[in-house]
Amino acid sequence: MDFSLNEEQRRWLDEAQHFAQEVLLPHSLKRDQIEGAFEPWDWDIIKAGSKIGFRTFAVPKELGGHGADFVTQGLVMAALAKADSAMSKAFSQNWKWSHLIAQFCTKDQKDRFLTPFLADDTYVIGSASTEPNSGSDNRYPPDDKNAGFRLKAERESADGDWILNGDKCFIANGSVGKLFFINARSDFSVNAREGTTVFMVPLTTPGFRIGKIFNKAGWRFYQNAELICDNARLPHANVVGEPHKGQKVRSGVAAEFSDFELAANALGICDAAVECGMQFAKKEKRGGKALYEHQLVQLKVHEMRMLTETLRSYVMRAAWDMDNKVHGSLSPVLVMAYSTDVLQRVTRLNLEVHGALGASGAGSGMIDARAQKLVRDGIIWTHLAGDNTQRLKAVRRMSF
Ligand SMILES: Cc1cc2nc3c(=O)[nH]c(=O)nc-3n(C[C@H](O)[C@H](O)[C@H](O)COP(=O)(O)OP(=O)(O)OC[C@H]3O[C@@H](n4cnc5c(N)ncnc54)[C@H](O)[C@@H]3O)c2cc1C
Repeated sequence: MDFSLNEEQRRWLDEAQHFAQEVLLPHSLKRDQIEGAFEPWDWDIIKAGSKIGFRTFAVPKELGGHGADFVTQGLVMAALAKADSAMSKAFSQNWKWSHLIAQFCTKDQKDRFLTPFLADDTYVIGSASTEPNSGSDNRYPPDDKNAGFRLKAERESADGDWILNGDKCFIANGSVGKLFFINARSDFSVNAREGTTVFMVPLTTPGFRIGKIFNKAGWRFYQNAELICDNARLPHANVVGEPHKGQKVRSGVAAEFSDFELAANALGICDAAVECGMQFAKKEKRGGKALYEHQLVQLKVHEMRMLTETLRSYVMRAAWDMDNKVHGSLSPVLVMAYSTDVLQRVTRLNLEVHGALGASGAGSGMIDARAQKLVRDGIIWTHLAGDNTQRLKAVRRMSF
């Protein structure tokens, strides 16, 4: 397999590395250590990245975006995440909905939503499935019609508006988004796969509002909030695809991208942990010599490096497969599950290399505080879009 990058991929990688180093990294620890749920967010960072193209990166060129392929997306996500994983995710969260808009939305929907999205550096998008009583089973909904999300969508009349009632929680970009893709149950007589309708819900929708913003141990820059539909009124023109056929919209490229996105972002954290551990081990002396001269520490740093490089190969192969429409034994779900395990191991080894200093927070020095931030960011993977048990459950649907 040819792993060499073409000129455009190399150019975007350079651009991302430069932006990560100059803009994201200097703000990373500072934003992470600001108290509050909303307060770590910074619109200036979003605007600066948007001007380069990182917000609209995945929108096809013919629709006015940058049309980045999956290999380039993976390179950019990992490069940005190496500086700050949550900031990288704040940009890439918009990419999956770019795919969705391009693939499923009508011309009218593109005119009303894609055009302002492309024009406004502060236009970010979210998507909502999770509810207080349904999380993991939303992704791979079981046949039981009682499982899965319950937010209800009813049509007033055969050609009337839709009325939505119910709450969503933990929704990314919840407190800052201008548009949400909301998954609602439009038919309770069947399971969630057969009875879901997806709606485009702009922030200005009557009866729709943002609720509580969630504070988190990791990914503190990233925003997660409740969305509340209290007789939210939407025209039929805001249905994505066909009524009751929402599962089609939720699967395919959008689902594959979600898994791939998390694996590529995890790779960036692993790169940061390897660099952080190596710098510390070379700088600090114990027992009369640099930590790195002790074989026990070398073993830890080398294991971190080995796992990170295997993850890189896996992520980039998944990207190549997606670009070349190779669907076979490799599923992005597997890559994402693997990245979760590698991430926990690599960030924990980095913490161990730092000793007690790794557990210290602000004030103990930038590099040391970074070691525990990487662990806190990594914890998020253990319950994003289900846990690893739930993800591996999906593997039974793979073809060999
Ligand atoms: C940073 C962050 C960003 C997020 N962004 C979004 C977003 O943008 N949109 C969105 O919709 N959601 C989002 N989520 C929510 C996320 O998708 C859910 O947290 C995830 O799906 C797990 O659901 P849960 O937290 O309700 O856990 P649960 O599903 O309650 O799981 C708790 C435990 O129970 C187990 N379990 C659950 N169901 C079963 C079962 N049927 N059988 C056996 N065991 C089971 C699980 O494996 C797990 O161990 C986000 C979460 C975080 C932390």
